Amino acid sequence: MRTKEDYIKGLTKMKRNIYYDGQLLDRTDELQMDCLNTIGVTYDEAARPENQKLCTAISHLTGERINRFNHIHQNKEDLHNKQDMTRMLCQKVGGCIQRCMGIDGTNAIYNVSYEADKANKGATQYHENFKKWLTRFQTEDLIGCCAQTDTKGDRMLRPAEQPNPSAYVRIKERRKDGIIVEGCKLHISEASVADEILVLPTRALRPEDKDYAVAFAVPGDWDGMKQVVTIHNFRPREHYKRGFVPGYTDSYLLFDNCFVPWERVFLAGENLMGGACALLFALFHRHSYSGCKPAIGDVILGAAALAAEVNNIHKESHVREKLAEIIMTIELGYAAGYTASDLGKPELYIPGMGFVPFGPGSYIPHSIYCNVGRCLSGEAVFREAEIICDIAGGIIATFPHEKDFKNPETGEQLLKYTKRNPKMSVEDQANFWRFLGDVFCSATGGIMNVGNYHGGGSPIMEQIAITTQYDIESRKKLVKYHAGMSGGDREVFSKK
Ligand SMILES: Cc1cc2nc3c(=O)[nH]c(=O)nc-3n(C[C@H](O)[C@H](O)[C@H](O)COP(=O)(O)OP(=O)(O)OC[C@H]3O[C@@H](n4cnc5c(N)ncnc54)[C@H](O)[C@@H]3O)c2cc1C
Repeated sequence: MRTKEDYIKGLTKMKRNIYYDGQLLDRTDELQMDCLNTIGVTYDEAARPENQKLCTAISHLTGERINRFNHIHQNKEDLHNKQDMTRMLCQKVGGCIQRCMGIDGTNAIYNVSYEADKANKGATQYHENFKKWLTRFQTEDLIGCCAQTDTKGDRMLRPAEQPNPSAYVRIKERRKDGIIVEGCKLHISEASVADEILVLPTRALRPEDKDYAVAFAVPGDWDGMKQVVTIHNFRPREHYKRGFVPGYTDSYLLFDNCFVPWERVFLAGENLMGGACALLFALFHRHSYSGCKPAIGDVILGAAALAAEVNNIHKESHVREKLAEIIMTIELGYAAGYTASDLGKPELYIPGMGFVPFGPGSYIPHSIYCNVGRCLSGEAVFREAEIICDIAGGIIATFPHEKDFKNPETGEQLLKYTKRNPKMSVEDQANFWRFLGDVFCSATGGIMNVGNYHGGGSPIMEQIAITTQYDIESRKKLVKYHAGMSGGDREVFSKK
């Protein structure tokens, strides 16, 4: 396995194709360092012997020990470990750990490429090609990101109906040696610091959308692809250092007549499998949320409890109610993910067919629980921010910059007027408000909230998945029985 330093060194060898605010950027530019340090934690922690079980796994392809983020889930235990690893690492960086897109994308394509070859009765070799790609990905301990979200143009039109045919990434041309793709994937987290970019479809596709059923992987600096990145760093600190300083990046990926050789193509025209791939990536990613959202909830809970303490209102009953609300969201989200892991099987829920065996035997978390957990915790993001806002008061929005505390003209007085709880040092109180201002009242804090709400699919996507997959008819039969209506059945569940 690599070290964080090997990873960063690898990035220095890549071609410059990343644009930031009108300029070409080096991958290891200072602006990207907080993000690199964040992903670096996945290397540092995997190297610690006490984390071996959680952060590493044995590759089913090579028998070698690899970073868990590059592993294909072989059993329920792997799903549990992925959830717990995600929670632990997100706690350590105090936010998103960012490497989950790679594990979720690889697990989706691994299964779908197998099924596509089966449906094509041996006419394609997507799965073997993917396994070759994956072996290198695992052995070299690479970072992958996953580019699913398309620009989507007019939301009311399907891909092939759009006035701009490249509103969704599509196969523009098929050649003997590969395909030419065109389009733009957007909001792609960590693409600017990734070794490999996995591309897969956004949505269910009809036969006429077959050119949009495309999955492939290219290096982050591949010819024919440019990145335009937004970088989300917290305000730099000179005098009052905080603990870990996380950073994030998201890219627009512009594919312009981009050639992808067949050995890097894992789906090309199979519309049903394209839809399955979209569904499956979203499912794995929603499972990842059952690890990261509880960790972010842990930070929010700690912040809310400390805000109450600094304000010396921590014994008030309304504070208790609000802390309980945050805890319930955290742990219900975690419990949903735990159940999804525990009920995991090599099966996928296909609308209209129910659960069917899917893929070559690797494990897929239970769909209902992944969706319930992500929806519950995703929708709570702004409620949690509201609770922090309520308990903290206005100070998080206007707390003066650090140099005003260092300035002899203002520093002493500012500190004097920062004092609230007599039992806590005023320096600690000031550091706390600085931190909370960073997290809740900065551009980066706002961006993270939007990401936590929409990432993995907007709540409506989970609600559609939940209501189409849940057996509502059985519940209707049960109530018909109790109400004395025709068609009632109180044994409906015991028969299943
Ligand atoms: C910080 C951040 C990081 C992200 N990282 C990644 C990443 O790494 N990889 C990746 O692939 N994606 C990523 N995403 C994208 C994320 O998955 C999407 O934002 C999410 O799926 C919603 O898609 P959208 O933004 O296009 O919104 P839309 O889908 O346009 O949703 C906007 C509204 O329109 C509604 N709507 C949309 N279509 C329809 C329709 N046909 N009928 C009725 N209503 C409709 C939706 O319900 C919603 O209310 C990230 C997003 C953010 C904010």
